[in-house]
Amino acid sequence: MRIYKFGGASVKDAAGVRNVKRVLHTMGTDDLGIVISAMGKTTNALEEIIARYQNNDPSYLKLIDLLHDQHVQIIEDLQEVTDEVDEGCVLRFRESGINKTLKAIIESLKGEMLRNQSKNYSFLYDQVVSHGELMSTRIVATFLNACDIPIDWKDARQLIKTDHKYRDATVDWDQTTAAIKDACKEKLFVTQGFIGSDDNGFTTTLGREGSDYTAAIFAYSLQASEVTIWKDVPGVLNADPRVFDDTVLLEKIPYNEAIELAFYGASVIHPKTLQPLQRKGIPLNVKSFLNPLEPGSTITSSKSLVPKTPCFIVRKNMVYLTISSRDFSFIGERSISDIFHELSENKMQVGLLQNSAISFSLCIEDKYARIEKLLAGLKEKFKVSHVKGVSLYTVRHYEGDTIPSMEAGKNVLLKQRTQETLQLVTAV
Ligand code: ADP
Ligand code: ASP
Ligand code: MG
Repeated sequence: MRIYKFGGASVKDAAGVRNVKRVLHTMGTDDLGIVISAMGKTTNALEEIIARYQNNDPSYLKLIDLLHDQHVQIIEDLQEVTDEVDEGCVLRFRESGINKTLKAIIESLKGEMLRNQSKNYSFLYDQVVSHGELMSTRIVATFLNACDIPIDWKDARQLIKTDHKYRDATVDWDQTTAAIKDACKEKLFVTQGFIGSDDNGFTTTLGREGSDYTAAIFAYSLQASEVTIWKDVPGVLNADPRVFDDTVLLEKIPYNEAIELAFYGASVIHPKTLQPLQRKGIPLNVKSFLNPLEPGSTITSSKSLVPKTPCFIVRKNMVYLTISSRDFSFIGERSISDIFHELSENKMQVGLLQNSAISFSLCIEDKYARIEKLLAGLKEKFKVSHVKGVSLYTVRHYEGDTIPSMEAGKNVLLKQRTQETLQLVTAV
């Protein structure tokens, strides 16, 4: 079994969906499970819909209609005869009832919001945003079936079982593995990334960008031979090409190195993806959906990074905190434990930490807009100063000339160096 994952960028429009068909045609469809994210920026749009709903702004309904229209447009665009899509395919797709299926998903989305009684924002979030993946997988599966690729549509909510931690659910591996093994006997299937369900049957999500993780969960459960994540880049590069020029393709990456890169914030792979694959020794390929025959990057248990080159990661919009005790006493184990308790309560992600005898410095990501709560909690016990909107630069395998070039022109608030990793917190 092989597992493929197509992200939002790869199915953002009709050309993207047709390209999925082309990739399958090029790479073959034997023993293949496919995980698909919501189309383009659909999840962001659904987040905006929830935000307006929470503010009692009725325009959220207009945004739902807009999302509906955008998906209808993709369906219409897919009804075009092209080099790869013949008339029979178009005709079967037109008569497939896909518009009705889409309408039913939109009605379910509206129903979730109109019926909602829960004050739990994260609960509502998961019931709503999951509709993005439901729409995309229905459209892609119906299109592929119309084009003579008989593929089975699976509801990931029946397979990925989790706890009740809405927006960041933890997988119940025993239940999940058993359900996937049992349900995925078909040789070719498609399912949704990012979503699962709790033991009451309510939808849960695995965290933003969580579809990579879904692919790993399916691969782990089915003992897959490989996972391939199809991207709009040639593979994992030594830096985000949107931020850095002259990037280099990393051809071979050891699991641990990829885990480090993802942990420090290389947004090309979801951080939770690697561990299940490493445990079963399943290789992860990251390849270009435009050039499927190019080798891309392969993450395996290989010993070293090829080519060995510095890797750069930037995380913007972080918060830099300096914490000291009120009476200038040492920051001891007890204080550190209190600080971490507050961080964990507020679901802060720590990108860097450094302590001295009298102060403790941290660079954190405020993923869930809880910084004011965190500051209030910490200020009950400590003296705290903070700077918002800082950037955290991480360089793995830095070389002699990396440090001056990274520091040039920046207001460096903190610098930390280990043998392999350099980190800078800068004020911009
Ligand atoms: P998906 O469609 O799977 O959700 P994403 O947009 O999340 O894809 O990820 C692909 C993007 O990740 C690329 O367009 C690129 O800008 C960005 N990216 C960040 N860091 C890296 C990196 N080290 N190598 C390659 N791409 C990276
Ligand atoms: N659609 C979800 C998101 O945008 C999950 C994913 O794309 O991986 O975060
Ligand atoms: Mg993504």
